[in-house]
Order: sequence, then structure tokens, then C-alpha cells
Amino acid sequence: MPFIQVPYFSFRDFPVGIDCQVEEAVLRAVRGQQYIIGEEVSVFESEFAAYVQADTAIGVGNGYDALVVALKAAGIGAGDEVIVPANTFIATVNAVVQVGAIPVLAEPDRHTCNLTAAEAARRITPRTKAIIPVHLYGQACEMTGFLRLAEQHDLTIVEDFAQAQGARYKGRPVGSFGRISATSFYPTKNLGALGDGGAVVTSDPALAAYTKMYHNYGQQQKYYNQLIGINSRLDTLQAAALRIKLQHLDALNNERQRLAQVYLRALQGIGDLVLPITAPDCTHVYHIFNIRTKQRNALQLYLSEQGIQTAIHYPVPVHLQEAYTWLGHKRGSFPVAEELAETSLSLPLYPGMTETEQKAVLAAIHTFFERHG
Ligand SMILES: *Cc1c(COP(=O)(O)O)cnc(C)c1O
Repeated sequence: MPFIQVPYFSFRDFPVGIDCQVEEAVLRAVRGQQYIIGEEVSVFESEFAAYVQADTAIGVGNGYDALVVALKAAGIGAGDEVIVPANTFIATVNAVVQVGAIPVLAEPDRHTCNLTAAEAARRITPRTKAIIPVHLYGQACEMTGFLRLAEQHDLTIVEDFAQAQGARYKGRPVGSFGRISATSFYPTKNLGALGDGGAVVTSDPALAAYTKMYHNYGQQQKYYNQLIGINSRLDTLQAAALRIKLQHLDALNNERQRLAQVYLRALQGIGDLVLPITAPDCTHVYHIFNIRTKQRNALQLYLSEQGIQTAIHYPVPVHLQEAYTWLGHKRGSFPVAEELAETSLSLPLYPGMTETEQKAVLAAIHTFFERHG
């Protein structure tokens, strides 16, 4: 096979013509001159809320702000405990600290890599106020158990669906289960903008009203401030681009799922590889195609020598991050999260990835395990 470079991620014109549509939409928005909270933003908010099957979506500056605003709106603050998975992108945990609450880490499930209600339940104390299920890698969490816990213990479920726009649990889109939910439109996310962006989603009118004010200085109307808010708004140009991308989100996710199926079929039974496992009732939109092997570092190095870029999500679990030593955990505190950190490797997967590229990845993995199996 000829030597080809395969990036970990690449922006491609998929479905063909989308780039042109996005450029035209952005140009229209530039010429429309409604740069802050223009009509594109409110229309996108309605369209995105409809997609997620929630009443209201509020655009914000990025996914981190979406989490902070969602927690604020839910009344989470000083001294409250919030249960989060020990294997997530750091934003989930930082947002909890930002509102003055205490992040309480919990083990992920070793098969799905997602937080489960059973693990979260073990961490509930009288101070627990919320749980943040993160739909990690693009797979929906099993939500029924979380909703039951919320009812039993009077907790708020705040979904982090930054990696999983379009994923479903029992047929319903993620983002619609929590009392309030947060997502990111970081460019490489399944629904990505051309820069930073995020959204808060809720069907609770009181939380929606708070969010609408809080993210825009706490204004009820211009220069009339009901509360002390922040400035975190979805940019009008980003909203214009996102409206086009949203129309194609299912096609983009279908293509990710098709590519994932090719990987799943071709990597079955190779070496000690553990392939992504999707739980019953859950769908997976493969924001990340995560494989696991004890030879992770050697495999990553070999692939890189073959021109194939990979990534690790995430190399250090939250409790072993320098920033979180104050939580008082140590190596061994969360064995599953640690094992995932040591063995996980994310393979290239992006809409528009060519058959040649994917075959190159597969051939290199096969060769590696023939030599090291
Ligand atoms: C990307 C991401 C975020 C944060 O999004 P930003 O827009 O980069 O701030 C939060 N949580 C998870 C799980 C993410 O993957």
C-alpha cells in the first residue's frame, strides 16, 4: 500500500456542497450586520431546541460557559456536591468548581466508558445537588437510572452532551433528559461551528428565563438588570454557520456511524483490542472512535511512523490531574478511569474520510498486531 498521511481529524466538504452553503450563510450574516444576538441566533436557538426535542435552547459562547450557566440556572452553588465522571474532558469538572460547588468523582462503566446511575448512587451524600452524566465519545448514557435517582434524592440532572449531539436514548435525543443540559459547538464536535460556541437546553421555563438573562449580563431588557450575569453569547456568524450544519447533522452522524461500522467489522478479534461497546437502548454518534489495548503507546508510535495520527481521550483522569490534587485522591482511587486512561486510543474518524485513508489505518493496525500480537 502506498504511504499516505492520515490526519486524526480533517474538515472535509461532507456532504458535498456543505462548505459552500456555510460560506454563503456566513457572508449573508456578515452583510446583515446584526453581529450580536442577531436574528440568526434566535432562529438557530429554535431550530436546535426542536432538534433536541426540548422547549428552549440558549446560545452561549462555548461549551464550558454552557455548563457554568446551566449549573447556575439550576441553583447549584457554594458547598453543593455535584457528581461527575472521573473520565471526562476537564471542562465538566472545572464548571462545577467555577460555580463554587464541589466535584465528586465517580467511576465510569468499563464497557461503555460512561457514568452509570449505579456508580453515581454510591457517591450520593446529603449535600449532593446534581449529577452530570457526560455522553462520552458520542454514546448516550443510560438515562432511566439517573432520572430515578433524581426523583428519589431530589437531585438535578445536568447533561453534558458536548460530544453527542444527535445521539439517542430509547429513541429520544440526548440533551432532552436533564432538567437542563449543556453542549459545545467547538469546531471538531459533531455539530461544530467555525469557532467557539455552545448552548444551554431546557424545557423548564424558569431555568430558561434565568439562562436568557444570566448569559447576557443579567439583563431582562437592555440596561435593566435583574441579576448579576456574565457575557457569554453565541456569535451571530457562528449561528449562521450552525444553522446549515444542523440541517446536515443526521447525515454527518450517519457517516460517522458508517465509518465506525467499518472499523468495528475489520478490527474484531485482533490482538487484545477492546472495541467500543454500545449499550442497549443507546445510540452512538462516534464523536470519538475509542479502542483499547495494553500496547497503546507502542501502537500509537507505530501508527504515527506510518503517517497515521491518533489521539488519546484522555491521558490523565481527573483525579490524577495536578489541578485536582486538592480533591485528595491518589493512584488507585478510580481503577477503571485509570485503566481507560492507560489503554485508550482514538482512531481517525471524520465525515468525508476516504476509503483509502481508512484502509491505511486498518492495514497498519493489522501489521502492528501481527508483529506484536
Ligand atoms: C468539548 C467539551 C466541552 C467544552 O466545550 P468548549 O466549547 O471547548 O468549552 C465540555 N464537555 C465535554 C465532554 C466536551 O467534550
